[in-house]
Amino acid sequence: KNRFTANAVTSTCCYCGVGCGVVVNKEKNGTITLQGDAEHPVNKGMLCSKGMNLHYTVNDKSDRLLYPQMRYNKSMPMQQVSWDEALERTAAVFKTFIDKYGPDSVAFYASGQCLTEEYYVVNKLMKGFIGSNNLDTNSRLCMSSAVVAYKTALGEDSVPLCYDDIELANCFYIMGGNPAWCHPILWRRVEAHKAANPNAKIIVVDPRVTDTCAIADLHLQINPGTDITLNHAIGRLLIENGDIDIDFINNHAEGFEQYSTIVFQKTLAEAANICGLSESSIRLAAKYIGEAKGFITMWTMGLNQSAIGVNKNLSLINLNLITGHIGKPGSGPLSLTGQPNAMGGREVGGLANLLPAHRNLNNPLHREEVQKFWGGTAIQPKPGLTATEMFEALNDGRLKAIWIMCTNPLTSLPNVRLAEEALKKAKFVVLQEISNKPETLAYADVILPAAAWAEKEGTMTNSERRISYLNKIIDPPGEALPDAEIICRFARKMGYKGFDFENPAAIYAEHVKLTAKTNIDISGLNYEILKEQKTVQWPYKKKSLQKGTPRLFTDKQFYTPSAKAVISPVEDTLTSEKPDDDFPFILTTGRIRDQWHTMSKTGKVNKLNQHYKQAFLEIHPDDAIILQLNDGDITVVTSRRGEVQVQAKLTSQIKRGVVFLPMHWGKILNNDLNRANNITSDQVDPISKEPDFKYCAVNLQKY
Ligand code: SF4
Repeated sequence: KNRFTANAVTSTCCYCGVGCGVVVNKEKNGTITLQGDAEHPVNKGMLCSKGMNLHYTVNDKSDRLLYPQMRYNKSMPMQQVSWDEALERTAAVFKTFIDKYGPDSVAFYASGQCLTEEYYVVNKLMKGFIGSNNLDTNSRLCMSSAVVAYKTALGEDSVPLCYDDIELANCFYIMGGNPAWCHPILWRRVEAHKAANPNAKIIVVDPRVTDTCAIADLHLQINPGTDITLNHAIGRLLIENGDIDIDFINNHAEGFEQYSTIVFQKTLAEAANICGLSESSIRLAAKYIGEAKGFITMWTMGLNQSAIGVNKNLSLINLNLITGHIGKPGSGPLSLTGQPNAMGGREVGGLANLLPAHRNLNNPLHREEVQKFWGGTAIQPKPGLTATEMFEALNDGRLKAIWIMCTNPLTSLPNVRLAEEALKKAKFVVLQEISNKPETLAYADVILPAAAWAEKEGTMTNSERRISYLNKIIDPPGEALPDAEIICRFARKMGYKGFDFENPAAIYAEHVKLTAKTNIDISGLNYEILKEQKTVQWPYKKKSLQKGTPRLFTDKQFYTPSAKAVISPVEDTLTSEKPDDDFPFILTTGRIRDQWHTMSKTGKVNKLNQHYKQAFLEIHPDDAIILQLNDGDITVVTSRRGEVQVQAKLTSQIKRGVVFLPMHWGKILNNDLNRANNITSDQVDPISKEPDFKYCAVNLQKY
């Protein structure tokens, strides 16, 4: 049961895409405490280590930016200025670049941690008024491969199922994810379900033995990059065993013939050899899936962050389609969103190739519709620069100014030293941020202090299309302002009409109007309903829907032109940087249990820093012996792009020939040798433009 005090209000954890509810108590001294919301449909009172300690990050104001700062040229020190001064100068500089070089000379780089209302106004400003599509977010580094795959397979960027399907499934196939650490509360539900139903089968596909494997019936310790080969081999076995849904394939899907041709191109023995698995283990996986009455596939960055991320996603979704496990209880593909509101961002069109309500930039009718609604300038058909392209464009001078909000690119971008060079060359950098820690601050010309979680109101959408309302609980420190307010004030300084919103509810009201008659229609929704219901799942066309729409495609009508799901016969050629004599190991990167992204919030919490105090390199003991590396030895890890120096952590839980680095650490006191992204590859998937964080060639040496 919730323990409400008179000052308690509900909110949503702002870390991962699971979207757990919290009850926040405002104490008399102005600090907050919190607990899991026992009445919340997602977490039913549970919180993971990060969520449990969320209040510390808000109560500790020691690193907070408190007032706007500015410098007139790069050699001058920053000085405190008023909001008007900071925004007027920024508007003047933006106008100068736009007049001289055109609207594409400026860009906004935002974040999957922004609230939906914040995304909405920055998207409207950039695409509808400045007249450029250079608005991308760090969701490009996270979910963009899954977005393309959903659109291709289902006709819409739409997760078809809900978390309540977990308790109705009897086979789970988890590929390229470690939800026990990265989506813990969702995984607790799978664990509880498995404990109550021991016959439910859990298959985990990962080159590392992770905590997720603890309850697995089958762990397929695959060679990195061979996911498509494995999925095709399983597809072939399902066809051979007659474990496919012929009725679904014939009446509700297309592409099966080409698919079966491609999956029969390799024998099981060939596929097993490529994947580094036994034939019997692949047969067992196919048996578990074939026998399932409810089958859920789950995945996250191991599939998305790849040079072939879209194809990896499609090969996985194909398994749901050929077995007909979609649009019915306990079944479907469930992509686990990395960030709390990546989905909300996409709903308002917050990527360089999107328009509001999942409209397409390349559709002239969609552009006209949105332009008329906003009343601004004509929307350009050319997609804007994506996350990594923005930094390339700063490097070669095409882009003059960048406005970075709510993200820390100098830790999180691939081949990050190149991004650092780009920011050095940028003519003008605006940074909208809560903390004085991120290394990006050193390159800023204007610093705008933003309100943090619990200091502003708005909405977010989690991995199961669940929209939740976040209360404002305390005031932001100093002169910090909510991100949406900052963007609206700037838009007004630019002279644009349509940014006089009275409050976030008014922004939301405008957003929901734009969704009317689209596949993600939430035109029946407003803040009052959200406050009353706490959460609803889209679509939500009218109030009578109560809690929204938990499951899509129950009528087997998909959003494609033919209304059929598309089974894609994807190639399984890996295009990533391959190991060779100079760089013989494969590097993969990922998260640890108690840290979040670049640690600007979780790094403030002592308890969370106890799990791992510094970055490390996981390496198999048999590889370590050859390199004469002992546990704890400083290891120099080099790639074609740079180097990292961290302690070796010997573990037989990683495959030989593969090494693992956590992605959280950045530059500490001018030392960047903990930073995994010094060495990661900036190759991207050609369609989704998502970087290949999980696969590049490295060399190792004892320091
Ligand atoms: Fe927050 Fe995710 Fe943990 Fe839930 S699982 S408490 S949303 S970090």
